[in-house]
Amino acid sequence: MQIDVIPASSPLVKSRLPAADYCVNPYTGCSHACRYCYAVFTKRFTPCKAFKAAPWGSYIMVKDYKDAKIQAEKIKGKVVLLSSVTDPYQGAEKQYGGRRRCLELLRPTEARVEILTKSDLVLRDIDLLKTTPHLTVGVSLVSDDDGVRRVFEPGAPSAERRIAALKQLKAAGVKTYLFISPILPGLTGITALANALGAYAGKIMFENLNLREPYKKTILALIKHNYPHLTELYEEIYIRKNLAYWREAEKEIAGVNHADKQIFFHHGGSQAIGRR
Ligand code: SF4
Repeated sequence: MQIDVIPASSPLVKSRLPAADYCVNPYTGCSHACRYCYAVFTKRFTPCKAFKAAPWGSYIMVKDYKDAKIQAEKIKGKVVLLSSVTDPYQGAEKQYGGRRRCLELLRPTEARVEILTKSDLVLRDIDLLKTTPHLTVGVSLVSDDDGVRRVFEPGAPSAERRIAALKQLKAAGVKTYLFISPILPGLTGITALANALGAYAGKIMFENLNLREPYKKTILALIKHNYPHLTELYEEIYIRKNLAYWREAEKEIAGVNHADKQIFFHHGGSQAIGRR
């Protein structure tokens, strides 16, 4: 892993996401190395030339928030998402602690803090999570089958560890949500995951796998290599743009027994069918 550290004066970046007002991304790059990651575009913002040529998941630029400040008034009542283009609880967090520093800065504010992670390292900060008002932690999963995780999220903690983290957060009184994302056609057991884990999540969010270049080719090749029986299905969805699979998935989600469900299905352009 190549690591570079740069000083950062404020962790807050104005968000373009509809669900957040500000984002905090303590790293550029992400060691979880998800093969479907849309955040690869952040490469162009790193000043380090070596990183621009390096494979996604093999480098991280750490933002050092030692002297950072937050204007509490600016984020009063606003949604602050940690994080949108990295996972702040990745391996480097053990050494650099950027996320913990952000939480220390946010705790005295009146922001609505949303954490989204694939890592059980989040449990390290459970003292801060329990005492930060208006805070929610989301745990992201594609499957409870760790073989699927190894193919698509080779650097991320196991599904088992994430599930254990979700349960521990809930038991500690932290407000939680489950993010079933991205739903991989033929591989993500939507109902099974939601039913097994819904009791530990105040809300369940569902997002489909939305393939764009440059990772579309990568994912289709991974499917062909690891799950050849699904090749036809993926070509039907992602090459011939048949939305029938997602319509059925929406019906399946409608049948999930949970009081708070949100679907974020994206298909690019005007083909979006499920965003609400
Ligand atoms: S955890 Fe998120 S940011 Fe990190 S590689 Fe995976 S999808 Fe990308």
